[in-house]
Amino acid sequence: MTISNADQHDRPPGHWPGLSARAMGLAYLLICLLPLALAGLSRVAPLDRWEAVGAGLGLSGLVAMVIQVLSSGRFQIVSGGMGIDRIMAFHKIAAYWVLLALLLHPLLYVLPTFQDDPALGAERLRAYLTLPGYRSGVIALLALAVLVVMGVARGMFRYEAWRALHVILALLALGGGLHHALAVGRFSALGALHWAWWGAGGVVVLAFAVLYGWRWARLHRQPWRLRAVENKADRIWELDIEPAQGTPPLRYRAGQFVWMTEGARRFPLFDHPFSIADSPQRPGLSLIIKEAGDFTRRIGDLESGTAIGIDGPYGTFTLDRHQGDHILLIAGGVGIAPIMGLLRHLVASKDRRPIRVAYAAGHPENMACLDELVAAQSVLDLKLMLISEAESADWVNPTGFLDRSKLAELLDGLDPSRTVALICGPGVMVTNVSDTLLDMGLPMKNVVYERFDYAGGLSARQDRRRTLGFVGLFMVLAASVVVWSLRLA
Ligand SMILES: Cc1cc2nc3c(=O)[nH]c(=O)nc-3n(C[C@H](O)[C@H](O)[C@H](O)COP(=O)(O)OP(=O)(O)OC[C@H]3O[C@@H](n4cnc5c(N)ncnc54)[C@H](O)[C@@H]3O)c2cc1C
Repeated sequence: MTISNADQHDRPPGHWPGLSARAMGLAYLLICLLPLALAGLSRVAPLDRWEAVGAGLGLSGLVAMVIQVLSSGRFQIVSGGMGIDRIMAFHKIAAYWVLLALLLHPLLYVLPTFQDDPALGAERLRAYLTLPGYRSGVIALLALAVLVVMGVARGMFRYEAWRALHVILALLALGGGLHHALAVGRFSALGALHWAWWGAGGVVVLAFAVLYGWRWARLHRQPWRLRAVENKADRIWELDIEPAQGTPPLRYRAGQFVWMTEGARRFPLFDHPFSIADSPQRPGLSLIIKEAGDFTRRIGDLESGTAIGIDGPYGTFTLDRHQGDHILLIAGGVGIAPIMGLLRHLVASKDRRPIRVAYAAGHPENMACLDELVAAQSVLDLKLMLISEAESADWVNPTGFLDRSKLAELLDGLDPSRTVALICGPGVMVTNVSDTLLDMGLPMKNVVYERFDYAGGLSARQDRRRTLGFVGLFMVLAASVVVWSLRLA
């Protein structure tokens, strides 16, 4: 293993300080209320109070939809300080708020008419839904509704098809929504708000140009090459990748992840996220990949020399972000990938802190890198616990789940309040282990996890707290929109 002379003590590469979650929440509120403030500058005929709330929800929902593009996890300036799990959870919950606000928008407009004369109210709603002038708004609303339903039913689609549809529908919803505001919006026809929507359109165009134009060009101009593929366990492969000539090495922190594509398919729509199972002190990159579907099933057949597209680094699953005097690393299944990255870096930097590693898998033959894990004990103050869920003839290590008694054994001799735990594994395991560690005295900020699949439920105590925070934010936003809108009436 070649060790580079990169200075590891400068500003962490690939780590954006980002804004704190609280500052992000405040910025979100202010941006979502900005169109209402600008609407206050427009001179329009007085509105009924329900119409005003309908208008307010439309304006605020539209700008929130624009922000959805930026909270997709690819813009480090937005997600760099939050971590991929949190930003994705926010992206999902914000989508419900946008849909609710924009569904209520036409309904509240017709509510006063409906209250006076239900038949006339229904006629007015039908007119909104069918008149050519409102068509772009209807298309936007339909696209948004399908987007949200597809988000819930993501597991039913092939991932790449899902992503392509997600992008197309997002463009339709954004284009339709902005056109609707500019074409028939009462407050947006002229003045500052009119130009603000043009600015928002510019942001959307720029964001998509970066996501699918600039990144696509970079995947081709700065390719990587596959040096070797090695089978590490049952349907688990390790890829050794190096920068092609002229491609700069990746500056990242151990535990981060990249988006990867291969061969002629080096287009951002086709990339998949994989953790870097390597130390930043090595110039190349290692990825440990488990066969899960169409893309990953082909990994073992890739030939050395294949061009690889790498976009990154992303993520905050790092020890630099989460400091502790004692370190607990927990891997379930292919969750070993970022854990190997962290461990390889601890070995390369000869870390002196007490380290405990638990690695759980369904069967012993599913376990990768066992020799290396055992060898790390000769360099580090490391205690290793290997757990097979199933019993096996020559398996002498613990079996079953990584439960409280096994965690207590791992933590033996460590002070929980000074320990930082990094967990990566299947959703249920992450939930149970993180909640148990909190019960055992680890501070919440020191229990860090990354999920490989956002389709599953987010039910750990930390997730619930986070969700409550987001729901609180949207309640404050809804109340502010109502209060602000009524001032417009
Ligand atoms: C931050 C992060 C780091 C990851 N690191 C690793 C790793 O180091 N090693 C590894 O083997 N796997 C990792 N994964 C999971 C890996 O990205 C998926 O297994 C892979 O993309 C599946 O693609 P596929 O076409 O083979 O399977 P598909 O048939 O498309 O999907 C199989 C399963 O993977 C999920 N999935 C597919 N694509 C994605 C995606 N882009 N993001 C999230 N989930 C997806 C699907 O919902 C489905 O449950 C990581 C995921 C994330 C989010």
